[in-house]
Amino acid sequence: SRYFTINDHPQGTPARELFELHEQELPSLAEGDVRIRNTWLSVDPYMRGRMSGVTTYIAPFELNAPLEGAAIGEVIESRDEAFPVGTRVRHMGGWRDIAQLPGEQVESLPSFEVPEQAYLGVLGMPGMTAWTGLNRIAEMKEGDNVLVSGAAGAVGSLAVQLAKARGGTVVGIAGAPDKLEWLESHGIKAVSYRDKDAAQLTEALRDACPEGFDVYYENVGGTCLEAALNTLKVGARIAVCGMIARYNEDTPSAGPGNLAMILIRRARMEGFIVFDHWAHYPQFLEEVGPQVESGKLDYEETIEEGLERTPDAFLKLFEGANRGKMLVRL
Ligand code: NDP
Repeated sequence: SRYFTINDHPQGTPARELFELHEQELPSLAEGDVRIRNTWLSVDPYMRGRMSGVTTYIAPFELNAPLEGAAIGEVIESRDEAFPVGTRVRHMGGWRDIAQLPGEQVESLPSFEVPEQAYLGVLGMPGMTAWTGLNRIAEMKEGDNVLVSGAAGAVGSLAVQLAKARGGTVVGIAGAPDKLEWLESHGIKAVSYRDKDAAQLTEALRDACPEGFDVYYENVGGTCLEAALNTLKVGARIAVCGMIARYNEDTPSAGPGNLAMILIRRARMEGFIVFDHWAHYPQFLEEVGPQVESGKLDYEETIEEGLERTPDAFLKLFEGANRGKMLVRL
């Protein structure tokens, strides 16, 4: 099996040299274990937090030990009768080509007629995150005006579509021109944060939605948050899903100077971690799965080819190189 490790806890933006590819001979299977040939690996922004060497809501990655992450693959050897050879499964043994895990850490894929990698994106953890943030944290209601940052990414691109289906005006903030086009083509008003300070971004958001927002779905932080705070309606709810603009900061910068807008607009701001809501994953699948299957909900993927490219795929998340879910195909 070939697998990636990190050789240090990075400060600032991780360098490509941080990642090392190793090879090991896997032991023969213990009772209850399965061996999986991975076909798709997920890289996700939260992995940056696990590289920092401190425990947040999840333990840090250990240096020189195989990295972990969501992956999909096919069982090629099994000593767990729940997963016969040939079963397509999802598990956390990513960043490697062959994974060997106890069967209890592996799950079969749901049975929608979608490409299997959808279970790492729109019908996997990122999709579940979009649905949870909108419905369970921001408590979005019919007709709400919704603002989403990171709007063309894995989480954001589902959040904007779910909001659009029930909402009033939906505005998405993103970077590159092709992402803005993608948003517009789905009926979402698109605003670029590039080359804008918070005052300019505020103005662009007010142009897009003069009434202001009932819900802000936060993926980015920094100037996006500051501008969003200026455009809240009274009683607005902010679901704090992520703050990717900050993940590579080596010293934390000051927060937005206009936090008093929370008070002035009587707003509520709540952070969440999707894993705490995982008991609702079946409900999410039941609601969203058929709409992805039928094409009513669209999703995009950006794919890097080959295990060797996994660190590059991961680092590209911080350059905004992905539209929709960033994946590695093995
Ligand atoms: P994305 O697919 O959205 O990929 C990351 C995107 O973030 C990039 O494409 C880029 O888009 C944008 N970005 C990167 N750096 C910056 C920056 N400095 N300023 C502004 N935008 C930036 O990732 P995910 O959809 O997987 O995750 C989105 C967010 O959700 C992240 O913050 C992540 O940590 C969070 N998350 C939280 C979870 C939870 O349980 N709370 C679970 C899953 C994800 P662009 O071109 O627009 O800049």
